[in-house]
Amino acid sequence: MVYLDYAASTPLLPEVKEVMLKQMDDVFGNPSSIHAFGRKSKVVLENSRRQIAKMLNVSPSEIFFTSGGTEANNTILAGACRDLGIGRFVSSALEHPAVLQSLEWLARYHKAEVLMVDIDAKGRIDLGHLDFLLKDAPRSLVTLMHANNEIGNLLPVKEVQTICKKHHALFHSDSVQTIGKFKMDMKTLGFDFASCSAHKFFGPKGVGFMYISGKHRIKPLIWGGGQELNMRAGTENIHGIAGMTMALKLAQQQADERLEKVKTLRAVFMEKSRQLIPGLVFNGDAHGSCLPHIVSFSLPETSRSEMLLLNLDVAGFAVSGGSACSSGASKGSHVLHALGVGSDIPSLRVSFSHLNTMEEVEAFLMALKDNM
Ligand code: PLP
Repeated sequence: MVYLDYAASTPLLPEVKEVMLKQMDDVFGNPSSIHAFGRKSKVVLENSRRQIAKMLNVSPSEIFFTSGGTEANNTILAGACRDLGIGRFVSSALEHPAVLQSLEWLARYHKAEVLMVDIDAKGRIDLGHLDFLLKDAPRSLVTLMHANNEIGNLLPVKEVQTICKKHHALFHSDSVQTIGKFKMDMKTLGFDFASCSAHKFFGPKGVGFMYISGKHRIKPLIWGGGQELNMRAGTENIHGIAGMTMALKLAQQQADERLEKVKTLRAVFMEKSRQLIPGLVFNGDAHGSCLPHIVSFSLPETSRSEMLLLNLDVAGFAVSGGSACSSGASKGSHVLHALGVGSDIPSLRVSFSHLNTMEEVEAFLMALKDNM
């Protein structure tokens, strides 16, 4: 099998697994217990927090461990509405369901005003419209993802940050697809809140964190204990957190070489796929500001289109039809829908990693052509 779905999830790197196995053998105490076993776990927990904070240039007291990106997004948005007096949320139709459905819930049950910023046919944010939506607004929060998981579009963070500052709006960015891909300095990015998930950068599933700037204090979404500085109740996933820390460390150390590798693979794929399949169209800002490892494209419809994803799987290639997060659901991709790509148009998302080879890309191109 050739795996080309790294935006959906990634395998554990051997170094990450090694750290986790060691922690599983050596550390089992509850980090909230005061005895030696508990203290040993607490050391792992707080060392992890310190290391992650250092890598992102934030304070350890601004990092809160969660079960992943979904929980981080839910906690931040609910907390901002309930505890920070946010009356208006500005977002976009391209956000992950963890953001969109949180906003729907806040609008329905907490009377939050939710406005969507305009996007163009490539999924780029209309910055003038964002500025307009924040004019004379009540205390607002802008929630726009750092990079889109389906089409890879990157947010013009500096411009959005400037507009947010001008209107005293808070800025949340779902950074699940960027933390662990680039070296990131939260202070420069100017986020008030960000969300992260370990399984997108060769760490374990079911663990992530939220960055919450020290300027803000929100109450938990999950109640029942004083863990995570009273921001998230529940015994911490120590082994997962240790694995995530190692995964992020490796991601930072290897960021440049990983980026170079995927950029080359993606460039060759884009060039050759267009030559090989007339009528193939790239979705999103594929030639502009975009993640270097994701490519989404639509294909001309054929009698075999409906079976394309399945046939590619049988042929030994794991790719995604739009987004893995919505696969299995009867609805098509909300992102492609927002870009005006019809649900009847066959579309695929391919996402590479440094573990892929050029031979795999070449083989996939042939399989794609054969299954059209
Ligand atoms: N946000 C984005 C942009 C994602 O791509 C994903 C996962 O696909 C999530 C949030 C959810 O993260 P998790 O799987 O850790 O809940």
